[in-house]
Amino acid sequence: MHFTDLGLRAELLRAIADQGYDTPTPIQAQAIPVVLAGRDLMAAAQTGTGKTAGFTLPILQLLGSRPAVARGKPRVLILTPTRELAAQVEESVRTYGKHLPFKSAAIFGGVSMAPQLKALKNGVDILVATPGRLLDHLGQRNADLSAVEIFVLDEADRMLDMGFMPDIRKVINLIPKQKQCLLFSATFPEEIRALAKGLLRDPQTVEVARPNATAELVTQAVYHVDKARKRELLVKLIEDHSWHQVLVFTRTKHGANALSEKLDKAGISSAAIHGNKSQGARTRALADFKSLKLNVLVATDIAARGLDIDQLPHVVNYELPNVPEDYVHRIGRTGRAGSSGEAISLVCVDEHSLLRDIERLLKQNIEKRLMPGFEPDPSIRAEPIENGRGRQGKPGGQRSGNRGAQGPGKPARGSNGPATHRNAAAHHSGSRGR
Ligand code: AMP
Repeated sequence: MHFTDLGLRAELLRAIADQGYDTPTPIQAQAIPVVLAGRDLMAAAQTGTGKTAGFTLPILQLLGSRPAVARGKPRVLILTPTRELAAQVEESVRTYGKHLPFKSAAIFGGVSMAPQLKALKNGVDILVATPGRLLDHLGQRNADLSAVEIFVLDEADRMLDMGFMPDIRKVINLIPKQKQCLLFSATFPEEIRALAKGLLRDPQTVEVARPNATAELVTQAVYHVDKARKRELLVKLIEDHSWHQVLVFTRTKHGANALSEKLDKAGISSAAIHGNKSQGARTRALADFKSLKLNVLVATDIAARGLDIDQLPHVVNYELPNVPEDYVHRIGRTGRAGSSGEAISLVCVDEHSLLRDIERLLKQNIEKRLMPGFEPDPSIRAEPIENGRGRQGKPGGQRSGNRGAQGPGKPARGSNGPATHRNAAAHHSGSRGR
């Protein structure tokens, strides 16, 4: 299958060719014809599968094929859970729409409203937004959703995690009933299915690449190491292998800051990104990391959501995530779109049960490596994992604890229980600033 087989117009094919792509990814091959046919879509796909182009391309084609009803009002609304994802989706709209005349804007919190207001006043065809800031603009009558023809919910399960469901319902009430709806989610907990049922009309369901399939190009390995020696081991790995671009995950914002400071002291340039950082600081850190001015970016799960770094060679789980699916999201930052990558996890005795959950989800054992001189001390007993909840404040949302269903209609595979999910939500709360 080739992009030309999908019936996309020349302007889009040119933009795709400019990106160097010729073969649609599985989600693109399946979703594009459904969207072009005007059908509602429920897609089980996550970041790294090419889903963004999977909805952006056919949307651009549809907009080009019919006249606008009301000039200047958004014809497409795409909701995303995080600022980073909103910015990246809008960048994709620009990339694929560069030979077409449509205007787009990204609306998210943590930055001044004024430039967003200006963009809205100038007229926007495709609006990409996080729910909170969008509602702020709507409350001030800066935006009018009465002409929305296509509505996209991207990463719906994350929005649920972050407590956005009430906001999403408010937004849905402000857009026309007659519209095409596309819902993308990595997992389908009960609340998402209920939302889909009320929102989508006779949807076509597509499901691609179960999360573990994205890991195929990624070499994974675990180093068992004592908690107190993780930093030393990380520095050694970076120095021994001359790793120049490493995305490191910690479980808490505090942990991200502390590690980044210590890496800097060890002479390894790094920055931390998480929800407590200003948008400016996050954008700068990401740009410096992409341009290799920084060797290491230390991130919490939510800050790294949707980060799109071409050919990122190394991901390190400095701490394992509480939710096994987050491991898959994390390692999906590397080995993307055909390039190979390496994901290393530093696992201490406290984390053995998390590692077992992850291996169960992946249905494979991850290779164990030993670094001489860093063998774990067998006398150290496991302790409960510090999750930073006290520091994170109130969790951003409620969870049913029903995470883990791998696709529409499939049973949930709950693994860690609701407490873990609340913790995950606490991480997310920082990223939803209005
Ligand atoms: P996404 O899942 O939308 O975040 O996309 C993941 C990555 O795949 C991004 O870096 C895209 O630029 C890239 N990508 C999207 N479509 C294709 C394609 N057809 N071939 C190769 N890479 C792609």
